Amino acid sequence: MGQERPPGLGRRTLDSLTEAEANGRRALVRVDYNVPLEEVEGERRIASDVRIRATLPTLRDLAGRSVVTVLASHLGRPKGKPDPALSLRPVAERLGELLERPVVFMAAPFDERSHRLVLNAHPGETFLLENLRFEPGETANDPDFARRLAAYGELFVQDAFGTCHRAHASTVGVTEHLDPCVAGRLVERELAAFARVLAPERPLVAVMGGAKVAGKVETVRGIAERAERVFLGGGMANTFLLARGLTVGDSLVERDLVAEAERLMTELGERISLPPDVVVAREISSSAERRTVPVEEVEAGWRILDVGPRTVEAIGKGFRKARTVFWNGPLGVFETPPFDAGTRAVAELLAAETGRGAYTVVGGGDSAAAIEEAGLAERVSHVSTGGGAALELVGGAALPGIKALDPPGGA
Ligand code: AMP
Repeated sequence: MGQERPPGLGRRTLDSLTEAEANGRRALVRVDYNVPLEEVEGERRIASDVRIRATLPTLRDLAGRSVVTVLASHLGRPKGKPDPALSLRPVAERLGELLERPVVFMAAPFDERSHRLVLNAHPGETFLLENLRFEPGETANDPDFARRLAAYGELFVQDAFGTCHRAHASTVGVTEHLDPCVAGRLVERELAAFARVLAPERPLVAVMGGAKVAGKVETVRGIAERAERVFLGGGMANTFLLARGLTVGDSLVERDLVAEAERLMTELGERISLPPDVVVAREISSSAERRTVPVEEVEAGWRILDVGPRTVEAIGKGFRKARTVFWNGPLGVFETPPFDAGTRAVAELLAAETGRGAYTVVGGGDSAAAIEEAGLAERVSHVSTGGGAALELVGGAALPGIKALDPPGGA
């Protein structure tokens, strides 16, 4: 701790709420209940309640202030129309069990009756609105929809970090009508972690993987401007290898981004590290013949599917010098063992470095899944709940859903 916050990340939090601002009032709380679902005996069930549990600190805080809590979230991509398979009803039930008190589910949130129910509620009552994305106005940030949604609350609490990079009605539009607008516990924790990546204790070392370069160019540039070293791996490294004049056989590449990759390498020079060795196969299959080869020796017909042991060793060496580490994206096709070896090894290295006192942050998405699968999530400093939001923040972008909250000290 004790780090200075980069400008724009400091936002009012729950702790700053005065009694007059909170007690006895209605709080509209944007949460991320975009939970994985599974079908069991023809019934939709929640496969993991991690995201629901993640909001409990905020909900308990609000309950202690005797507010009426109205929760709003999206689930999946229903494209602006109701889809019973993506109803939040099972989430309301699970949340009620976790809170040990009823959560009223609002199946038709925008009719007069539902609205009246909330206006007449007693402090301490909790409501969950149906999937926001059943309404086209949500992703369009339609002003009329934002006004109707905001009518549920008086103050606003943002606790859905994973959607803060989107300017939607529930992340930006509603903030025009509600006062104050503060960060919930989960968002507060995320911002504190990213503040330590954006204004890092040096040296900062980053590892970036995942399938594609598209959408990550600004993140690589942003982090490389602050980092001593950025290791690239996974499918995205292939485009950089091509830009360096190497052949990559049948590997995944984005030819339209080769020039951009070349430009980045010229700009960033020595700070970018590409894998010295890779694991190749002719197809993505656990039983396929595979070889570990120097990166200069990828033959036609073969695909790069993981980084090799020399690459892992180089990353380990880089980590040992670091005081801060950021990792986003798997280094290989980790869903298909044994091409998960590089990703697993990096997860282990990260946990070991955390043990030695480095501050380690894992960007959300697949790298978060990989570290959880390896059972190491508790052994790193922070695992982000937001993939896209984490990448944009690290790239230096202001997230619209964070910008829309009140700055600290400003009531
Ligand atoms: P992203 O969504 O960009 O983080 O990419 C995650 C995906 O990258 C995972 O599904 C991995 O299987 C994939 N991936 C990682 N390395 C490779 C590779 N060398 N070739 C193809 N896909 C890869």
